[in-house]
Amino acid sequence: MAPEAPPTAGLPLGWRDLLPGGDADLGAALARFLGVPAVQVECSGTAALVVALTALRERAPGRDEVIAPAYTCPLVALAAAHCGLRLRVCDLRPASLDLCPQALAALCGPRTLAVLPTHLAGRVADVAPVRAIAHAAGARVIEDAAQALGAREAGGACIGTTGSDMVFFSLAVGKGLTIYEGGALVVADPELRAACARAARRVAPWRWGWELRRSAELLGYAALYRPAGLPLAYGLPLRRALAQGDRIAAAGDDFDEAIPLHSVGRWRRAVGVRALARLPAWLDEGRARARQRMALLRERVPELQLIEDSAAVPGAQGIWPTLLALLPDAARREAAIAALWGQGLGVSLPFVQALPDYERYARHVARSPGEDWPHARDFAARVLAISNSPWLGDGDFDRLCTALQRAVEPLAS
Ligand SMILES: *Cc1c(COP(=O)(O)O)cnc(C)c1O
Repeated sequence: MAPEAPPTAGLPLGWRDLLPGGDADLGAALARFLGVPAVQVECSGTAALVVALTALRERAPGRDEVIAPAYTCPLVALAAAHCGLRLRVCDLRPASLDLCPQALAALCGPRTLAVLPTHLAGRVADVAPVRAIAHAAGARVIEDAAQALGAREAGGACIGTTGSDMVFFSLAVGKGLTIYEGGALVVADPELRAACARAARRVAPWRWGWELRRSAELLGYAALYRPAGLPLAYGLPLRRALAQGDRIAAAGDDFDEAIPLHSVGRWRRAVGVRALARLPAWLDEGRARARQRMALLRERVPELQLIEDSAAVPGAQGIWPTLLALLPDAARREAAIAALWGQGLGVSLPFVQALPDYERYARHVARSPGEDWPHARDFAARVLAISNSPWLGDGDFDRLCTALQRAVEPLAS
């Protein structure tokens, strides 16, 4: 039977999660899980970022730029544009997800409102130099942990809570814990936290239509996010997009410019509270499976460079929705993608290209003459995401290793 592994190890919902009633204080439940005083729940990670930027902008009207990694989710660009802010993108360290401190120092200045170091694919990035550079310029640090709910710094603190100004998480489908679309914002300073709550009441009020739609979508997700449902819900549209040569749709990078902004209803919050009870065990299993599969990959395909938590943060504990691997060069990555994307084995691209290279989002990225992002572009050209879903069986993983071995063989000229 052909498998259809989902691209990430999202936490499946059980029917008991969907029952009416129960504790609906998802913010309090997340605060207990993360070990922080308070968590503000929003309708998406993007909405959490919009709320954060709105509150910051009110206190620093002279600052109108946001700095994000040059390889990140295009929704970050849409959030900045929504807030009327200029987005600058910063290069990465070579073969790494860490922001390059030299490049960041060159971008940071009196116009910088916030810098967004990003923990992509659950990998813990090096934030200490980012904080030093941003804070010296009078800018704030908002950690983008959209893909890293549950990741911990060395010592066990939740990422983003030991020196940065804010951190946000996504509760979207495919990012771990999900209420179909949702977000969580953690703000260190109590006064700024209150300002974010006020901003949210203004920019993201209750809207019946959106809550009904998201509730229906969450039910559909609960029904279809299982091995029997994935060929229809994920595989079919994926293969259709690939057949049309539409990588942006295949990777799920085709975002609507209009950002839905509304509060999250009681039922979806209660679903989140019940599912969250299973998240710690789910993340532990994912970590163990990732370790075992990374060891297998190292043995079978030693040419791959596997992305770990940043070497600059020893002792950090990321989460493992996917494994990220760099192929030796762009041609071999293309060979791997040609052989594996859409084959049901959970291989995909985190994002199709570096943010300034998307035709449809480039206009949201401000750039100065001669500016380049060589390491981010290199990362985008060589990276491959491999699902860490338990529904990708050992036999399938073995087939995947064999296909990767073939892809890294010297190319016939
Ligand atoms: C998904 C994502 C976001 C936005 O989160 P949503 O909940 O989908 O709005 C922001 N940043 C990164 C890195 C993401 O992957």
